[in-house]
Amino acid sequence: MSESACDVAIVGAGVTGLVAALLAQRAGARVRLFEQSTCGGLIQSARVEGFTLECGPNVFVERPEFLSLLQSIGLTKDIEYPVFERPRQLVYSQGAFHQVPDSPLKALRTPLLEGAAKRKALFAMLRNKYPGKLTSDVSVAEFFLPLIGRRGVDKILEPALRGIYGGECERLSSEFLFPLLFERIKQSGKLRSGARAKRPKAFRLRGGNDKLSRALEQVLQAQTVVHSRVTSLSRDSEGFTLTTDTGQFFRSASVVLSAGNNAAELLAGFDAALAADLQKVPAVGLEVLHVAVDALLPSAQGAFGMLLPAESESRVLGIMFSSHLFPSAAPPGQELLTICLRPASAGTACTPAESLREARYFISKVSSCEPRVLKQTIWPCALPKYCVGHMDMVRRARALEARVPGLFLIGRDVGKPGVSDRVSAAFQWMETWKTSQSINVPLQAALSSRSSSSSALSAESIAEKLSPSLRGNG
Ligand SMILES: Cc1cc2nc3c(=O)[nH]c(=O)nc-3n(C[C@H](O)[C@H](O)[C@H](O)COP(=O)(O)OP(=O)(O)OC[C@H]3O[C@@H](n4cnc5c(N)ncnc54)[C@H](O)[C@@H]3O)c2cc1C
Repeated sequence: MSESACDVAIVGAGVTGLVAALLAQRAGARVRLFEQSTCGGLIQSARVEGFTLECGPNVFVERPEFLSLLQSIGLTKDIEYPVFERPRQLVYSQGAFHQVPDSPLKALRTPLLEGAAKRKALFAMLRNKYPGKLTSDVSVAEFFLPLIGRRGVDKILEPALRGIYGGECERLSSEFLFPLLFERIKQSGKLRSGARAKRPKAFRLRGGNDKLSRALEQVLQAQTVVHSRVTSLSRDSEGFTLTTDTGQFFRSASVVLSAGNNAAELLAGFDAALAADLQKVPAVGLEVLHVAVDALLPSAQGAFGMLLPAESESRVLGIMFSSHLFPSAAPPGQELLTICLRPASAGTACTPAESLREARYFISKVSSCEPRVLKQTIWPCALPKYCVGHMDMVRRARALEARVPGLFLIGRDVGKPGVSDRVSAAFQWMETWKTSQSINVPLQAALSSRSSSSSALSAESIAEKLSPSLRGNG
């Protein structure tokens, strides 16, 4: 059965798709947003015994467009900042806590860096020169080794990246994860730009981060969300056809893929090699264990949480002191710890009690009270792993967009995964889409005249004109 045509079809109603749908709706477009499961994607909160648990993202990074979005959907009043302006980040290594240095002076004092690395880093900072040469993408380890030495990579960088990208500094792409720094060093060798970067603030939403997805879903017009899985995507001279698992067909002038690497299969008819490569991007699994304790030890005071280097040989990657930072996350007299673990090996079921046993030793370093599990969440595919060369795939995705007018890839397979990055990706897409609309008016008129070969030609030439404005969202 075929449904009436729309201007914009968005696949995936995670935060990226929801924000894109809202912006398109506000720009006057007829929108359809397809979701195979529940709206909000990875943003999931739970309320248990007076605790507010974040099973997905815990904190957001403040950015102007994110703040304006929250204001426009009435959520500004729910913004909650951490009680400490600059919480410490701790690393637990060889039986002791160490603070991750957040200033040059602290970097000089920390035992997390070797003496030689400190001298080299200081010298590089003073000269404002990267000690080496960069011509193409290298691993994060290779990128930072000349700056912070082996110990710095193992004890600071690897633990920091383990909970986000599954670690493996030797495989992760420096060009993708640190694009601005990478580009600056590649172009000029300079470590710092002239401008002083402001440290962005972190925040969450009081009562649960899922307020964001629920509010976005509510402000979308009725009928916008189609609760089905899109199983195929094709294009003809009149626009795109999306087929769903319920056997329905939908027509749309533009299609926005925001479904992460699940979108790859939908690209097979447009660029089979790119679709296959995107499907091969490894996915990082994560387990989140929420634990209640009665109180925290002084060792945890003023800290964001503790990270564990690979030397710990534990499944535990880190512990966030959630209610210490955001007191409304726990009822009075109790503390909430959010523990991030590597999932048990494939095929091995792991009960909450088993995971607690794994984490108990590290919990005892920050609380002498008996811990109690509130909830266990297992994400088999939490995040894509952006390995060396990932930017080549992003560039190929941008080239595909330029070849196929009306097709937009804004998912986290080709952009950064943070929720603020996702919101920014939706805003950037809207700018591109608006630009394309002024050029696409004649395109759509031409396409609807059904003269397929000539309109296909005009589509390609218009794509050429459009391509400079098709930007990367990473
Ligand atoms: C445990 C964990 C902790 C995190 N912590 C943080 C944090 O503290 N701060 C932060 O900024 N970020 C964090 N993140 C990352 C962040 O949550 C995600 O990157 C972000 O929410 C992704 O949003 P998205 O809309 O791009 O993708 P998703 O949320 O994955 O949404 C994609 C949607 O597309 C749907 N879909 C897929 N294929 C189809 C199809 N064919 N048809 C229809 N629908 C489809 C899916 O069902 C899904 O709902 C964390 C992630 C996890 C898992």
